[in-house]
Amino acid sequence: MNIEGVGGTTPVSLANACYACASCYKNSATAQFKVHDMELFEELLDTSNDLKVGSLPADKMGKATRKIVEECEKLRYFMEPMPKFIYLEKCDSCGLCIMGCKKSAKWDASHYIKQIIKNNNNTKVITNFNVLKVLHNNGIVKGVEGLNSNGETVSYNSHKVILAAGALNTPKILINSGIVEHVGEGLFTDLFITVGGYLKDIKLNREIPMGVKSEFGPYFLSPHYSNQLIPIIKEKGYNPAPEDIIGLMVKIADKANGKIGNDGKIEKK
Ligand SMILES: Cc1cc2nc3c(=O)[nH]c(=O)nc-3n(C[C@H](O)[C@H](O)[C@H](O)COP(=O)(O)OP(=O)(O)OC[C@H]3O[C@@H](n4cnc5c(N)ncnc54)[C@H](O)[C@@H]3O)c2cc1C
Ligand code: SF4
Repeated sequence: MNIEGVGGTTPVSLANACYACASCYKNSATAQFKVHDMELFEELLDTSNDLKVGSLPADKMGKATRKIVEECEKLRYFMEPMPKFIYLEKCDSCGLCIMGCKKSAKWDASHYIKQIIKNNNNTKVITNFNVLKVLHNNGIVKGVEGLNSNGETVSYNSHKVILAAGALNTPKILINSGIVEHVGEGLFTDLFITVGGYLKDIKLNREIPMGVKSEFGPYFLSPHYSNQLIPIIKEKGYNPAPEDIIGLMVKIADKANGKIGNDGKIEKK
């Protein structure tokens, strides 16, 4: 999935605020950051405060989620409420988080941009601009160069540049700027599969997704609707509507052992 736009990928997020901390999994993403001398836990706590992260309360869990919790408890698996960045008073549990929240109930990074614009009338947001490289001289940043919506090369001068073009495009831009040492190393991805089945009228597709989770070290399970299950279930002789799909995401921790080469080629073990 490739998302481009103001707010990046966050408008389509499922609003889960998992720290992926070492208490759940000793080789978690935060543990791997620490190996590279990047201790981010305090920043994660600060961001959680900004985003008003809170565990999903039981009365906001839908029928399907509650059924999964009950059945898991019978099997003696503990399902804990998912930490979410959703302003619950605005949320009508429509289940469409992945489409972008139309009720402004889910936090996304465009909120930061809106805040900056509100606090400073002179702020200008330039969209449809494809950054190609960071301009720098003798270790001092000078600005960025890229293509505008007409395909013209344009540069913007600045003494500060924050490059946040995502895990795949950021290294590309740095490499294109002649900054290559260790760039593109330690790539990890968001691995998951969704397993599911047919349960008439369960309506998992119309409730807050991933409302609970059960941790098993390097993976966790969480209720998740996927329309990709429909054709698979049809092959088994059933004819499910989206409302009849029940599913569990199996979210798998990846290792930070991938690399984006100077030619843009991605390697992953
Ligand atoms: C469907 C989905 C659900 C998710 N759910 C969750 C969740 O519940 N919880 C969670 O923690 N994470 C979730 N994630 C992951 C999370 O959204 C991402 O990890 C996070 O947004 C990455 O942030 P980023 O700033 O690194 O990159 P991005 O969000 O990808 O932002 C990159 C930005 O840079 C822009 N850009 C790229 N290249 C250029 C260029 N050359 N010039 C100019 N601009 C450029 C893009 O348009 C984009 O705006 C989800 C991801 C997806 C796809
Ligand atoms: S369930 Fe619907 S209203 Fe609630 S946060 Fe997601 S998209 Fe927004």
